[in-house]
Amino acid sequence: MRLSRYFLPVLKETPAEAQIVSHRYMLRAGMIKQASAGIYSWLPLGFKVLKNIENIVHEEQQRAGHIPMLMPTLQSADLWRESGRYDAYGAEMLRITDRHGRDMLYGPTNEELITDIFRSNVTSYRDLPLTLYHIQWKFRDEIRPRFGVMRGREFYMKDGYNFDLTKEDALHAYNRHLVSYLRTYERMGLQAIPMRADGGPIGGDYTHEFLVLAETGESEVFYDSEITDLKFGDREIDYDSVEQCQAVLEEFTSRYARTDETHDEAVFNQVPEERRRTARGIEVGQIFYFGTKYSEAMNANVQGPDGKPVPVHMGSHGIGVSRLLGAIIEASHDDKGIIWPEGVTPFHVGIVNLKSGDAEADAACDKLYAAFTAIGLEPLYDDTNERAGGKFATMDLIGLPWRITVGPRGLKNGVVELTSRRTGESEELPPEEAVKRIAGIYGKL
Ligand code: ATP
Ligand code: MG
Repeated sequence: MRLSRYFLPVLKETPAEAQIVSHRYMLRAGMIKQASAGIYSWLPLGFKVLKNIENIVHEEQQRAGHIPMLMPTLQSADLWRESGRYDAYGAEMLRITDRHGRDMLYGPTNEELITDIFRSNVTSYRDLPLTLYHIQWKFRDEIRPRFGVMRGREFYMKDGYNFDLTKEDALHAYNRHLVSYLRTYERMGLQAIPMRADGGPIGGDYTHEFLVLAETGESEVFYDSEITDLKFGDREIDYDSVEQCQAVLEEFTSRYARTDETHDEAVFNQVPEERRRTARGIEVGQIFYFGTKYSEAMNANVQGPDGKPVPVHMGSHGIGVSRLLGAIIEASHDDKGIIWPEGVTPFHVGIVNLKSGDAEADAACDKLYAAFTAIGLEPLYDDTNERAGGKFATMDLIGLPWRITVGPRGLKNGVVELTSRRTGESEELPPEEAVKRIAGIYGKL
C-alpha cells in the first residue's frame, strides 16, 4: 500500500477522552473512531489488525478440529426464555421489539441459539463429539463502556460450543480448548495466563480465564511467579489425545493463578513468599464446562448407546477478538507508539522515502515494494512529501515492526537502512539484503 493512496487519519493531539495507552494509540493511529459510547467504526488500519487476529483464531480453532459457522447477531427472546436467562441477564441485554411486536435481542453470547441448532439436527450419540464455533459481533449494554475496544458495548468475539456424550469427553474438549488458546495467544505475541475463575451468568464449576498481565487491566490477579516462565512454544500436539491435552492443562494450571473472584488467601500463602505476585490483568478469553445446564433446560438430548435419551454435556469457550487489539498494545508499546508483534502487524514492513520526487530514491522504493509484494509480504510505503521527521513519527506511532529507510545519500553507497521498531537498532545494507532479512523473519525465504 502506498500511503498517498491509503486512508490513515493519524491524529497529532492526544485525545482527551482516552485514559489508557492502547485507547490513545488506537485513536491517534487512525485505527478506530467512536460511533457512540462503546461502539466503534474500524478504520482501515484497525480493521486490518482485527482481521489478522481473527485469522489466527480461525486457524488455531480449525487446527484443534473445531468447525466454523456463523450465527446471526439478532436472536429471538423465546430461546432465552426457555433457558431461563431472558430475565436473568438483566440490563446488559439489549432488547429490541420488531414491527410485529416480537421480542428480539442483540446476542450477548450464543449458548441458546447453538443448543437449538444442535437439538434440531443431532439425535444420536454417534454424531458426537462436536465442537462448533463462530466469530461474530456481540452486544452487551455495559454500564461503563471504557478504554476503547477493551470494554465496548459492541465487540467481536469468538465463541465456541462443544457437545459431548459424557463428562469425560466434555472435559477433553475443555482441555483441548485450553491448549488451542495457549497457541492462539502466543502466535499474537502475547502471554495469556490461564487462571481459575468464576462461572458468572454462564454457570459451571470448571472455568479458566486467560489473562494478559498489564497495569491497566480490570481484573485483580494472584499468581505464583513460576507460571510466567511457562511457554507452549512450537511443540507438536495431537488434539485427539486425551493424555497429551490433559498433560498441558496440568502443566499450565497446577501453580497458583486466580482472579479475585476465586482467590483464596490461605491457599495462596502456601506459595513461597518470594514467588507470590499480585497484579492486574486483561481478560482475553474464558473457557467453561457447564455440563447439562442448557441441554436439560432446552431438551438437547441424544440417543445414547443403550437407546435411552441422554442430555449432552456442553461447554462454551470465548476469545475477545476486538479486545485483543487493546491487550496487545498494552503489552507492547513505548512512548512513541505501538510495537506490533510480527504475527498481527497490519503491514509487514514500512518503507520510508526520504526524498520523494528524487528519481533514484523513488526507483529504489518502487523496487523494494515490488520485491516484497512478489513474495507475499505487504509493505506500507510512505511516498508522501512530508518531511522525514513526520514520516518517522507516523511509522513509530502505527508500530510496524520493521522499517526500511531509503535516501539519496545511502543509495550512493548502495545501501538502505533497516530499523527494528522494538529495539530501535538500525543497520545499513544493500536493498536486496534487506528484503532477504525481512523475508526470513516472516518465513518467506
Ligand atoms: P468481563 O468480565 O471482562 O466483563 P466476561 O467474563 O463477561 O468479560 P465472557 O462472557 O467470558 O466475558 O466473554 C469472552 C471474552 O469476550 C472475554 O474473555 C473478553 O475477552 C471478551 N469481552 C467480554 N466483554 C467484552 C466487552 N464488553 N468488550 C470487549 N470484549 C469483551
Ligand atoms: Mg469471562
